[in-house]
Amino acid sequence: MSDHNRVLVIASGNKGKIREFQGLLDGLPLSIEAQPDGLDVDETGETFQANARIKAQTVARLTGHWALADDSGLSVTALGGAPGVHSARYAPSDPERIAKLLRALTGESNRCARFCAALCIAEPGGQPLLEVEGRCEGIITTEPRGEGGFGYDPIFEVTGTGRTFAEMPLAEKKQHGHRGKAFTLLEPQLRRLLQEI
Ligand code: IMP
Repeated sequence: MSDHNRVLVIASGNKGKIREFQGLLDGLPLSIEAQPDGLDVDETGETFQANARIKAQTVARLTGHWALADDSGLSVTALGGAPGVHSARYAPSDPERIAKLLRALTGESNRCARFCAALCIAEPGGQPLLEVEGRCEGIITTEPRGEGGFGYDPIFEVTGTGRTFAEMPLAEKKQHGHRGKAFTLLEPQLRRLLQEI
């Protein structure tokens, strides 16, 4: 890799997420760095895109480098889009979040839901350079199924597959999943942007 690669800071304190992005961005002329330790940006936006933008802008301004941020969550139609941007804070733990969501849908026939992942790259002046959103449609099952994945995976059955995210191998989740789709949208645009500048 050249020493002159542009630095891209991943606006997240989550080591797993940073590793995942490092893998996804491998092959692009970028030097990937983690955000400064101890930084915690408030997610005050009302949409996934707004939160991704807030995080990317804040970290880009603070570090003086391009920054990439993501925000994701599960929106359930019969609950008016909840838990949505509050997915991570819906209840204290994954099992409690799953139980709360299943309780909220007791007796509900419309179980349509969608996972969304928004990505934003901002430059040090705070200007968003690229913004994309990946979506995955599905239904909320009546009970958890599968051992894989994390979060709401065991109760989200992906349309057309008959399986929950937790019942899929990781490669298949990447193909169907909101984050994988968002990245597939971002990658060619980022490649073009890096050639233009
Ligand atoms: P954030 O994007 O890290 O702010 O948090 C998103 C929250 O949405 C996670 O804590 C999970 O509860 C949920 N979530 C996002 N993506 C997924 C997924 O792929 N599977 C299961 N839950 C997810």
